[in-house]
Amino acid sequence: MPHYIDVILPLPLQETFTYELPLQLGTFPQVGSRVVVPLGNSKVYMGIVVRLHDEEPPYATKQILDIPDEPPVVLPAQLQFWRWVSDYYFCSMGDVYKAALPAGLREKPKVSRRQKTTKGTQDKQLFVMHPLSDVQQQAMDSIQEQWQKHSVCLLHGVTSSGKTEIYIHLMQKAIDEGKQVLFMLPEIVLTTQLTERLRRVFGERLGVYHSRHTDSRRVELYRRMLSDSPCDIIVGVRSSIFLPFQKLGLLIIDEEHETSFKQQDPAPRYHARNAALVLAAQYGAKALLGSATPSLESYYNALNGKYGLVTLKTRFAGMQLPTIEVVDAQEMMRKKMMTGIFTPQLLLHIRHALEQGKQVILFQNRRGYAPVMECRECGWTPRCQQCDVSLTIHRNLSRMVCHYCGAAYDIPAVCPCCNGHELSSHGYGTERIEEQLQRILPEARIARMDLDTTRSQQSYEQILHDFEQGNTDILIGTQMVTKGLDFDNVSLVGILSADQMLSQPDFRSYERAFQLMEQVAGRAGRKGARGHVLLQTRDAGNDIVQQVVTHDYEGMYRQQAQERKLFRYPPFCRIVLVYLKHRNESVVESLATDMSNLMRQVFGDRVLGPDTPPVGRVQRLHIRKLILKIELTASMSAVRQRLLALQAQVLAMKQYRSAQIYYDVDH
Ligand code: ADP
Ligand code: ZN
Ligand code: ZN
Repeated sequence: MPHYIDVILPLPLQETFTYELPLQLGTFPQVGSRVVVPLGNSKVYMGIVVRLHDEEPPYATKQILDIPDEPPVVLPAQLQFWRWVSDYYFCSMGDVYKAALPAGLREKPKVSRRQKTTKGTQDKQLFVMHPLSDVQQQAMDSIQEQWQKHSVCLLHGVTSSGKTEIYIHLMQKAIDEGKQVLFMLPEIVLTTQLTERLRRVFGERLGVYHSRHTDSRRVELYRRMLSDSPCDIIVGVRSSIFLPFQKLGLLIIDEEHETSFKQQDPAPRYHARNAALVLAAQYGAKALLGSATPSLESYYNALNGKYGLVTLKTRFAGMQLPTIEVVDAQEMMRKKMMTGIFTPQLLLHIRHALEQGKQVILFQNRRGYAPVMECRECGWTPRCQQCDVSLTIHRNLSRMVCHYCGAAYDIPAVCPCCNGHELSSHGYGTERIEEQLQRILPEARIARMDLDTTRSQQSYEQILHDFEQGNTDILIGTQMVTKGLDFDNVSLVGILSADQMLSQPDFRSYERAFQLMEQVAGRAGRKGARGHVLLQTRDAGNDIVQQVVTHDYEGMYRQQAQERKLFRYPPFCRIVLVYLKHRNESVVESLATDMSNLMRQVFGDRVLGPDTPPVGRVQRLHIRKLILKIELTASMSAVRQRLLALQAQVLAMKQYRSAQIYYDVDH
């Protein structure tokens, strides 16, 4: 009988902690079981057992306090997966533990409560599955053929080609074979529209794992997955990769190009698509990546034979892709023909669509009223006190808000610098566009969908419902309106400004701009007559704009891949961003210099920087950034070991003790 256990705690510290097993407990935890343990003088944590052994540690150990439930809540396959996440994304097992389990399973128990698991009914008579068209059937056959040779297949299908319907058929086949399915979507695509579509087919065999659900609902689903009647299909967002699958056989990732699959903060800063592919490999499951605009990484892998590739070039039921018309906003400005952000062409098309009883979607990738306010007399602009960034005006809230830290300030009536009375707004957020358009078209029923109007799941659903029912004529929104939505009556999509998307200081900004525009264009003309898209820009000659006009994904890919290769960016290498933070700017400056010198001794010219990021201070911490470019063949755990050693070396210096260093892999 073992006397000791090693336990993971939800802390970013050391890997494991050792405790003694008291004999009088009468029960034994297993690997993956939860245990209640003390830490320090007064803290109590819920830990996960990773090892039972008899090796007495060279220090006094404490005894565990309780075993709330004997059977493991983390399966061996999950622990193996956690190790990979921790190794690859440079974080501790504790960080992974925190991301992986719903809070209710991590909390120190007030009372040791056992949740009832709801058993799924296995009744299957509720089917409303559409038969596939010939083109869809061929695609489905090709996917399965590709799976003979490659465990991962990329489905490159234009918007509204019927990908979702193919997914449904593949899911059905997998569960008929007794396997489990994980169907992953980016947060904002996981609409009720889609869940209902799947629910109608799969009923209770389907479980939905969403961050908008309450924690107790997530605990319940997690428990059900551990039970002897788990869900056959999970539809979920990125954290669903951490559910306890018992016999995962199929992984489908829709909108695989979405950057929101990458978790930014806090650690683990994992890429859910890439991590899910590792998970699938671990289970020997087949994987399908789907997109109308694949990521450069996935397309590169498909072209190089690492993934299979299946293409759907036509829309379902012979619908044509929308026509795209570029409007030169620069010229309209010069001719003084703009009404606010609207060109006369766009207004004409909007009026026309409304006259025909059609609906319109307008896309602007910026929320709030205006991104900048300025004093006409002295040029003062309001800035966040904690971050190096100007504040966004939110008229509806009557506040100025920092989009980095969330701090809100009162809008001044006069300039605090010169007491001037003329404070003007520059630029356009969705709020201002809504206000302007309502003034131009007083009769139109306009709704806005962005982070501010969809704080609750209910308001989000209401906006979609009203649009679907035709109670709204025009839907203005941020990238929330660009994907996943399937409306029948939208004839016109307006892209209000391509320029901000094209000017982001990021090596992915062109790829991303193409994806966003192509996706939002895909909302037009899904049923009925061919859709039309108006694309306003001051940079009409930009290659990306031209590639959107011709729906030329391959052209975009070739051009971007060439540049990435030339300048050594993914998919031709891996990127690790090293962030350094400190309250004092001169400290972080010299820390960054010291760290980069040490890194150069080890990694040579793979190190770039240090640089100050575009927003150089967030929440009072000054930031510096280093870039490390790693060959695709290198071992990430070796890189991690060396970086952590260097980090320990610099943080041991007295002046840097309160500094923070962290890593972002595959940003
Ligand atoms: P995608 O996922 O590629 O954007 P969808 O699967 O949403 O495309 O299909 C677009 C539209 O066509 C949807 O309204 C869908 O219900 C319909 N559709 C697709 N395939 C079929 C089919 N085989 N039978 C009937 N309707 C279909
Ligand atoms: Zn002023
Ligand atoms: Zn701020």
